[in-house]
Amino acid sequence: MKKDPLFPKRPDKASLLREWTGPLTNDLVQQPGAFGLGQLPRRLDVAATTTSICGFCGTGCQLEVHLNKEGEAINLSASTEYPVNLGMACPKGWESLTPLEASDRGTTPLLRDARGEQRPASWDEALGEMARRFKKTMQEHGPESVAWLGTGQIAVEEFAFLGALAKFGMGFVHGDGNTRQCMATAVAAYKESFGFDSPPFTYQDFEESDCLIFVGSNLCIAHPIMWQRVMRNQRNPDVIVVDPRRTETAMAATEHLAIEPKSDLTLFYAVAREVIHQGWVDRDFVAQHTNDFAEFAAFVEPYTLEKAAGASGLSASSIQELARKIGTRERVSFWWTMGVNQSYEGTRLAQALINLALLTGNIGKPGTGANSITGQCNAMGSRLFSNTTNLLGGHQFTEAADRRKVAGVLGIPEERIPQQNSLAYDQILEAVGQGKIKALWIIATNPLHSWIEQNRFKERLEKLDCLVVQDMYANTLTAQSADIYLPAAGWGEKDGTFINSERRIGTIRKVRKAPGQALADFQIFRALAHHWGVGEMFREWTCPEEAFQILKKLSVGQPCDFSGIRDYAHLEESGGIQWPWPAEAESEDGKVPAQRRLFGDGKFFTADQRARFCFEKPRPQPESPCGEYPYILLTGRGTSSQWHTGTRTEKSDVLRKLYPRGIYVEINAEDAQKLGLQSGDKTLVQSRRGHLEASAFVCQTVPAGKLFISMHYREVNRLTREDVDPYSREPNFKICAVSLKPLR
Ligand code: SF4
Repeated sequence: MKKDPLFPKRPDKASLLREWTGPLTNDLVQQPGAFGLGQLPRRLDVAATTTSICGFCGTGCQLEVHLNKEGEAINLSASTEYPVNLGMACPKGWESLTPLEASDRGTTPLLRDARGEQRPASWDEALGEMARRFKKTMQEHGPESVAWLGTGQIAVEEFAFLGALAKFGMGFVHGDGNTRQCMATAVAAYKESFGFDSPPFTYQDFEESDCLIFVGSNLCIAHPIMWQRVMRNQRNPDVIVVDPRRTETAMAATEHLAIEPKSDLTLFYAVAREVIHQGWVDRDFVAQHTNDFAEFAAFVEPYTLEKAAGASGLSASSIQELARKIGTRERVSFWWTMGVNQSYEGTRLAQALINLALLTGNIGKPGTGANSITGQCNAMGSRLFSNTTNLLGGHQFTEAADRRKVAGVLGIPEERIPQQNSLAYDQILEAVGQGKIKALWIIATNPLHSWIEQNRFKERLEKLDCLVVQDMYANTLTAQSADIYLPAAGWGEKDGTFINSERRIGTIRKVRKAPGQALADFQIFRALAHHWGVGEMFREWTCPEEAFQILKKLSVGQPCDFSGIRDYAHLEESGGIQWPWPAEAESEDGKVPAQRRLFGDGKFFTADQRARFCFEKPRPQPESPCGEYPYILLTGRGTSSQWHTGTRTEKSDVLRKLYPRGIYVEINAEDAQKLGLQSGDKTLVQSRRGHLEASAFVCQTVPAGKLFISMHYREVNRLTREDVDPYSREPNFKICAVSLKPLR
C-alpha cells in the first residue's frame, strides 16, 4: 500500500500526552491540535477521564473525554486502545463538544399560540398538550391517524423506549426512522439473503483482505477512520472503487471503474456470469451453504461482458479483469454504502454483491464478506430496537410467538402489541398528504432538509393538525414548523449505548449538563409516559442502564443475542462487544475477543441455515436525461467535516472553515466550456420539481453530462424525485435529471 501522508502511524498514548501542550501540526487525524481541532487541556486541568463513542457516523470511534473537578467535559482525544479507531478521529469527532455549546440550543419547550407564534412553556404544559391533542386525534380518527418519524442518532435504550412507549403505551400503529433514508436497503437485502439483518464483518477485515471492492462508497471522506484501516493493510491489496465520480476514494484506490450511473446491477450480473464461466465458483461452499445457485447461474447467462460494457461504459476487458480478481484472489471483500442503498433497485444491487461473495466463498473468513457500511452513529441500534418495521430485538410483529415473547419480557398484555407492520416513511408521508395521518411526532431529525423531494414534503407537513418536534435545536427547518417543540439533550449530555457498523456495542456517557430545561430523550419518554397515563407500564425503565438489562432479555435466542454482556462496565473494559455475545458464550482467557465476524461455520440465519441467491432483472432509471433536463444530477457527501444536514457541524467555527460555505455544483470542464462557465460563476440548476442557485465548480471528477451537489446543503432536495426501492422503500436520492444555466 502507498503510505498515506496524512496518517503515517498509529500514535501511542505517550505521544498524545506530549502533544497536549505542544505546537499545532498539519496532521488532521492523529494530532490533537491539528487545524485547532480538539485542543487538549493542560494536564493540571484534568481531574478525570471517561470514554464515549462518537455521536456522528456509524464507524463508532471511541473518544476519551477529559473532565474537570465538577465532572464536566473540558476536552477530548481519540482512544488509542479502542479496537475501532486505534487513536484516530476525524474532524467531526475532535469537534464533538462544540455543538453542545452553541448559543442557539433549545432550552425550553415551546407551544404555538393562537397568533401562530411559538412561545415558551413548561414541560407539564407541553407534554400535557401533546398527550391531549394526540389522544383526541386517535379517538376521532383511530390509532392509524398518528405516527412518529425517528432518527439514527439517539441511544439504543432510547430507541427501545420510544418504540415501546409509542406502540405499546400510546397505541400508535405507525412509526419509522432515518434507517429508511440510509440502511433500509441493506436490511432488506440481508434479511432475504441471510435470514436476518446481519452485516457479517469486523473492521480487521479492512486490513486482512487481498482485494477490497468499494461500490458507491466514498470511504475517504464519509468514513475516514475506516479508510485508515484500509491504509494499514499489509497484504498489498487491490483496492477497486466502482463509482460514476472520481471521488477522493477513487483517486486513492489502485483502480477506479467509472461506470454510468445505475448500470451497476447489469455490471455485477455480468461479473457473476464470468466467474461461473471461468470455473471460479467455490463449488463446495455453494453446495453446502446456499440455495438457488442453479437458478442464479441460468439467470445471469444473458449478461455477457459486451452487454455490461454497453450499459456501464467500461471496456469488456476491464469487467473481465474485475471478475478475475474476484474469482482468484484469496480474500475478497465487498463494501457498499449509499451509492447502493439509495437506489430504486438498491436491494437487488446489494444482493448482487452478496451473491458474488457467496459464489466465491468469500464470507465468514478473514478479509472477506459482503459488507454494508452504516451511516449514522446508531443506525444499527435503530435497526434492532426502534420497534418500527421490526418488533423489538429483530422480532416480527406478524409472528404470534414473537409477540408473546416480547410481551412476556416487558410484562405487558400481548394485545398491546400491533399485529401488523408499520407503514414505511414514504407511506407515512403519503398518508399525511391524504389527510389520513393528522398528528406527527418527529424526533432528532430534520427531514425538511434531508427527505427527498422537499417541496412535496413541505406541502404535506402543512396538512397536519399537530406537529411535535423533539430536537437539540429549536431552529432547524423542521423544528420551526412545530406546534409543540421539546428541547432535547444531545450526545455528551446523556448515557446509553450505540451499535456501530461491525455490530460493536459501546457506551456513550453524560459529560455535560444539558442547557436550560433540555432533557435526555430517555427522560422525555418517561415524562410523556406519565402524562399519557402509562407510567406504570414503564416502571422498570428508570434509567438507560436498567433499560439495557431489559434489552438483553429481549435479545435472547435471536441472532443478535447479547445477553452475555453484564453491564456498561463490561462493555467499557472489553473495548466494546460485538453481537452476538450470548450468556453461554465462552472464551479461552475469559475476555471477549476484540474482533469477531459472522458465518465462520457457514450457517446462516434462514430456516435451513443456507444463504439464498436473490436476483431480478434490472429496471430502467425512473428519470433519464432529456432535451429539457439534459444532465444527471448525482448527490453525496461533501467533506469529512460536514454531517448530514449540518445541524451540529455548522455550529463549529473550525469545521465551517473546512468546507465551502455556499452551495456549489461540480461540473465537468467540457460541459463548463460549452456553457462558457468558470469556477465561481453563479448557475441555476433546475429539475421538474424545483430549482436552486449554486456556484459552479469546474472539475474533472464528474464525467461530462453529470453534475454533483453535496447533500449537506438545504436546497439540494428541492431537485430530487421521490422514487423508492420496492423492497426496502428507500428513496432514490442519488440520481435525477436536471438542467443547468449560467446566471449572468
Ligand atoms: Fe466520529 Fe465517524 Fe469521525 Fe469516527 S469517523 S470520529 S465515528 S464521525
